[in-house]
Amino acid sequence: MADLGTDVRYIKGVGEQKAKALGKLGIRTLQDLISYFPRAYDDRREIMKIRDLRDGESACVEAMVAAAPTLSRIRKGLELVKLRAVDESGTLDITFFNQAYRKTSLIPGETYTFYGKAEGNLLRKTMTNPVVEKEGRRELTGRIVPIYPLTAGISQLTLIRAMGQGLAACRNLLTDPLPDAVRREHGLCHSGYAYEKIHFPDNEKELADARRRLVFEELFLLAIGLKKLRRRRDGLRCRPFEDTDLSAFYAALPFSLTGAQRRAIGEILGDFASGRPMNRLVQGDVGSGKTMVAAAAMACAVRNGRQAALMAPTEILAEQHYQGLAPLMEKLGVSCVLLTGSLTARQRREALGWLERGEAQVAIGTHALISADVAYHHLGLVVTDEQHRFGVDQRAALSAKGENPHLLVMSATPIPRTLALIIYGDLDVSVIDELPPGRQKIDTFAVTSAYRRRVWEFIRREAAEGRQAYVICSMVEENDAIPDERKAVTEYAKTLREQVFPELKVGYVHGRMKAKEKETVMAAFAAGEVHVLVSTTVVEVGVDVPNATVMVVEDADRFGLSQLHQLRGRVGRGQHKSYCILISDNRSEETRARLKVMTKTADGFQIAEEDLRLRGPGDFFGQRQHGLPALKVADLSCDMALLQEAREAAEALMAEDPALRNYPLTALRVAQLFADKGDTLN
Ligand code: ADP
Ligand code: MG
Repeated sequence: MADLGTDVRYIKGVGEQKAKALGKLGIRTLQDLISYFPRAYDDRREIMKIRDLRDGESACVEAMVAAAPTLSRIRKGLELVKLRAVDESGTLDITFFNQAYRKTSLIPGETYTFYGKAEGNLLRKTMTNPVVEKEGRRELTGRIVPIYPLTAGISQLTLIRAMGQGLAACRNLLTDPLPDAVRREHGLCHSGYAYEKIHFPDNEKELADARRRLVFEELFLLAIGLKKLRRRRDGLRCRPFEDTDLSAFYAALPFSLTGAQRRAIGEILGDFASGRPMNRLVQGDVGSGKTMVAAAAMACAVRNGRQAALMAPTEILAEQHYQGLAPLMEKLGVSCVLLTGSLTARQRREALGWLERGEAQVAIGTHALISADVAYHHLGLVVTDEQHRFGVDQRAALSAKGENPHLLVMSATPIPRTLALIIYGDLDVSVIDELPPGRQKIDTFAVTSAYRRRVWEFIRREAAEGRQAYVICSMVEENDAIPDERKAVTEYAKTLREQVFPELKVGYVHGRMKAKEKETVMAAFAAGEVHVLVSTTVVEVGVDVPNATVMVVEDADRFGLSQLHQLRGRVGRGQHKSYCILISDNRSEETRARLKVMTKTADGFQIAEEDLRLRGPGDFFGQRQHGLPALKVADLSCDMALLQEAREAAEALMAEDPALRNYPLTALRVAQLFADKGDTLN
């Protein structure tokens, strides 16, 4: 093998066909292959005597096929191969379903290793569909066997063999991106050993050592990359804002800001005055009043002769921000434009003109704000709302429309500290940890669909009191097809309208409706003309209808906890007592535990931690969402301590040798990790 970039099809025993299947797993090169880590391990080390097999437990036995296997066809599509195997301690009756080839492949008098779940008692022991291997082969039996995520056309055995070949091929190719000193100081094994043992450990200790080493490496490289990005940004300069007096803004507000809001604004003003472009995340639970913090920042930017843009992930939200902020800005003599995909060509042209000439100082919109034909007069502040919905590159595209503009991202998904350290390793963070006064607790219930009639009754009563309700219906996925949200929502709404609430006005929105239609319905809901709104999660983010007091979520188990928390945050925004009802017929332990978390706490941070613990970081750390390199081995819900260690090691190395001149291998791997991402991260 020439190098780690070698195409897997040249690996012994792989070839075109299998290379294609491997490609579906994202494995193209030798490096990809050895970095394809097992998702689990099966400890099949112990070879037992047949006599000692325990009912219901999986184990290996080495046994001789006592007589020719028999094949019988029970009915069409069901073939049974039966055989008896013996060792010196007893006999084992083995059955294979639909593996007719076993009749000829298993030869009487030969010894094989069988691995499977044993059943039966002292008198008769059986195994069904065991793994079979020639005596002494030790690929799938008699060892700790790695279990890989698979795809069609690839079996565990194929992958195990390819892995063995791949590891052998790169034994002399692997270089160690961890500096020796770092490796020694943190008690980490060599790279080559780690790759070998993460796939084929001989015992738990080897696996733990290998894993620790690879996790450390991954987090270490990531930390260095983020540090470099941050440093690059630290080198940027912009003219400081001179006027940070916001008294006119405060005077225009209908309420006084909370301490946490004021603190966040203070931090932002500090950034504005620093002469360096701000890169700040404002994190606050739903309803904590992030919009006003953004508004203060925008007002300040405008006072200093700059324009500000606020980008929201949905039209509904952009529209709402516009409705809320435009009048406030008006009072300050600032003019706003709304820019979304649903403007008419003429409206759009007009809006673009105002922005380009600087006649409008604030632009509020969706990703329409970043389309190519939008030019700003002097864009000095970019705010993105609910930023986890945006890719890093969308954020970057908007900031590219100004000259090193200040950047403010607002997130309502309280990201656990663990993740924030990584995802936002290069951002400053302001936390709004206080809700505006007078908020009430939202009573939350987890129920089964047996309660659905009562839930409807409850909605009827609330509606009679003049309140409104959301019903979130989930999308039923039919054989992997893209779920049809339109159908799910319209049919649900039809049922409610015709059979349940003939006396009420039922509306619906879903993601596939035209923006204009959506807006009309949302506006009607906001105006109280619609009592019950059936929806998908398009209302999840930001929408503010204070008169809505009931949030019903169907198939609640299909949602992440943080998402449920967001949905719940749509109610309890006014002075009325509010309720959230989570319907689910899933009775699994795990689901019940998750939904219970929702009924117990209203603290978004705690919920996010819990989500992380129960579902893993995938949700937060999907590569698509933030554009950072995906983590392969590190599990952020439990590798906290190691993360800290790796970060410290990265800091130390960067302090010692900022350009990594003496560590070209480290520098190279960091560059690879951030390839085609570096420019978009900011
Ligand atoms: P989020 O942080 O979820 O974006 P919003 O900015 O939408 O929260 O604010 C939620 C609601 O609270 C809005 O109706 C807003 O007008 C109101 N609000 C914000 N700040 C305060 C405050 N200091 N006092 C009273 N109400 C406030
Ligand atoms: Mg908001």
